[in-house]
Amino acid sequence: LFVIGGGSGGVRAARIAATHGARVGIAEEYRYGGTCVIRGCVPKKLLVYGAHFAEDLKDARHFGWDVPDCHFDWQRLRDNVLSEVTRLEGLYGQTLDNHKVTVLKTRATVVGPQKVRLADGTELTTERILVATGGWPFVPEFPGSEHAITSNEVFHLDSLPKRVVIAGGGYIANEFAGIFNEFGSKVTIVNRGDAILRGYDEQIRDRLLQISMTKGIEFRFNAPFKSIEKQDDGSLMVHLDNCDPIAADAVLVATGRVPNTKGLGLEAAGVELDKDGAVKVDDNNQSSVPSIYAVGDVTNRIQLTPVAIREGQAFADSVFGEGDPVAVDHSCIPSAVFSHPPIAAVGLTEGEAKNQLGSVKVYLSDFRPMKNVLAGRNERSLIKMICDGDSGRIVGIHMIAPEAPEMMQAAAIAVKAGLTKEDFDATTAIHPTMAEELV
Ligand code: NDP
Repeated sequence: LFVIGGGSGGVRAARIAATHGARVGIAEEYRYGGTCVIRGCVPKKLLVYGAHFAEDLKDARHFGWDVPDCHFDWQRLRDNVLSEVTRLEGLYGQTLDNHKVTVLKTRATVVGPQKVRLADGTELTTERILVATGGWPFVPEFPGSEHAITSNEVFHLDSLPKRVVIAGGGYIANEFAGIFNEFGSKVTIVNRGDAILRGYDEQIRDRLLQISMTKGIEFRFNAPFKSIEKQDDGSLMVHLDNCDPIAADAVLVATGRVPNTKGLGLEAAGVELDKDGAVKVDDNNQSSVPSIYAVGDVTNRIQLTPVAIREGQAFADSVFGEGDPVAVDHSCIPSAVFSHPPIAAVGLTEGEAKNQLGSVKVYLSDFRPMKNVLAGRNERSLIKMICDGDSGRIVGIHMIAPEAPEMMQAAAIAVKAGLTKEDFDATTAIHPTMAEELV
């Protein structure tokens, strides 16, 4: 097996294929660990932790602590986060070495169904190829777009920008809006449409919007980017359709990610790509060329790390293991947005459930967490449970609350298992918790 791409999906597949006895080589042109470890989930979550101290330090005063005025040092947090990333990158390399995978730090491209070429021109033959090259930030074309940064660069900023404009209303936009706002930057989210986090439950999204605005984050809707102009003092002026221009010290573009297939040689090798450049695969991760497979973001199914890992595992078990082929079940996958406060969801939204099932029952808990009450923080949480009106089966749970992703991971098991609201009600609460609202 030759794996191209050393991210979550590729590393898992390489390691498991080797465990099953395959001779495995893997090539990564940048850093082992991929988007998640190097410039995604992991450093982002560490910044979210760092940002949360801003509120915790304020709230602490209501809990009796004398907290002096505190100063935040971006460079210190940035460097600590980047060191942690480097430590994890090392562990990825070690895991591969321990499994006797041949690790190459170079770009590799496909030159035929069973042939890859390394950057130095070396050609290698292999029985199977796994494409696990992930995705890449998509930046719309507009004059001055070269002045913007993406999630690739945001972890490396020299200094904390005083004013940040964020293009997009999705995961990255809302997560970084929360992070920069807590660090003290003036944040404006600029969205081409009129909704943030499309795909999440409407009531939950509205709650995040309302809380974000209360925290001081500004929003511009129906305002596509026209241009970015660099000013003489080095700052940026963002020109929008339908809105006044906005001055900024940094512009972060978070308008989705595209599959990383450019220049990989896939089409020449006969691999079918979709209109966005994603590798088309069947349930077994096999492309239109039988010896070439793909997993993770490069297939543009669900762009989440745990999904890529499952696909990598399923591929390796199916192709190199002893048992029957296993296909990943892409239904009922829980997800979270690490905004301030975070959102978490599993299953159908209320709107989707009504469209699909007709009869639905919605249970709602709209409450102020007790910690917020004592802290004088007027920030309410919302937990929604959507049930099939006929069978009572829970078809979706949606939350915006402190620690919502932690609660959701456990609740998602019940939804996946097809439990009913009665099953939840039969469970005694743990008191006092936020999760007891579920039962
Ligand atoms: P998202 O898909 O979440 O959001 C993209 C946003 O950009 C939407 O608001 C979309 O608007 C807007 N947009 C899309 N195209 C354009 C365009 N041409 N011009 C202007 N605006 C545009 O993308 P992100 O970049 O935030 O994140 C990429 C992916 O990475 C996510 O989809 C997710 O799968 C993954 N991710 C997951 C995280 C997590 O699990 N917590 C965290 C970060 C990323 P519209 O709604 O109108 O389409």
